[in-house]
Amino acid sequence: MNSRKEQMKEGEGNNSRNEANSGAWKFLWSQNTKQKLKHFIWKCLRGILPVNEVLKRRSGKGDERCVCYGEKTETLEHMLFFCRHAEMIWKAAPISWDGLQEFRHNFWLWWNCLMDAKERIQGRDYIVLTINILWQVWKSRNSIQFNREERCPEGIVKKAMMEWVEYQAVGSVDDLNRKSGDDKASNGGRWSPPPKGYRVGRGIVARKDDRGLIGAWAASDDKLGEPAVEEALAIRQGLHIAKEQGWRKVLIQFDCKGIVGKINVRKAEDPNTGVLIFDILKIRQDFTECSFFFIQREGNFVAHHLVKFAINLRNDFVWQESFPE
Ligand SMILES: [Zn+2]
Repeated sequence: MNSRKEQMKEGEGNNSRNEANSGAWKFLWSQNTKQKLKHFIWKCLRGILPVNEVLKRRSGKGDERCVCYGEKTETLEHMLFFCRHAEMIWKAAPISWDGLQEFRHNFWLWWNCLMDAKERIQGRDYIVLTINILWQVWKSRNSIQFNREERCPEGIVKKAMMEWVEYQAVGSVDDLNRKSGDDKASNGGRWSPPPKGYRVGRGIVARKDDRGLIGAWAASDDKLGEPAVEEALAIRQGLHIAKEQGWRKVLIQFDCKGIVGKINVRKAEDPNTGVLIFDILKIRQDFTECSFFFIQREGNFVAHHLVKFAINLRNDFVWQESFPE
């Protein structure tokens, strides 16, 4: 256990929601997510989110019990972590905060431990995704409480992922617009091969003609090929996805020039990528139209974001909207 956790254990029971902990507020407001979600977390941290226990305590009226078990008091922590619907959502989530399990009885402590994760690779992304999941847990609770309607946990997690991906997409376009003309603009989106022994991730983003997102896929692998092999694998997976979806016309954009060239001149004799390119050329024939283009890495920001995100995923992540004919 690290020192921060020790320190917080000691502080437990004191009024920990004080000004001395203003770091938690700064941390919250600095998150790259919707204002609505920050406000929700703020209410959780202040202990004013209207769960049944809070309502009963403040008004003296109503029933403090949780609607799902009936016998448990619906505290904030019960609702977010321990209630059956919450447990199922966390189980379906692609991330887990194992080190935080022991702090679930106190949301404030839990949140403070979560702050430690911001220094980890992609930690901030995971935190934002976690905020999206917490929000969906609350929405799921409301649906049970008010409509007696329980939603499927996998669907709820996908909704959280979708909102996260969409917000990242919008945010990154803003970033690019802000930074345009600046040489440093490309740094954020650059990908370099991870050191040996690391996992590699793949990120695939599907868009409609109007550039609206229709799907996102992220997966990670232990294997470490050269970047061209990883790119070819991603393209092959992308084509498989498009085929499964029944799309007839696809335009594949990616940022590995060498592979684009090889596919376009049907060159499959390279010992490393040859077999994959051969596969790609074969699957390509199943489409009415299938073309391959090179784009700058900056133009492919969301996919790259997903790649980095995918590396630490527990499960593969698939998100897609329903596809009308
Ligand atoms: Zn419950």
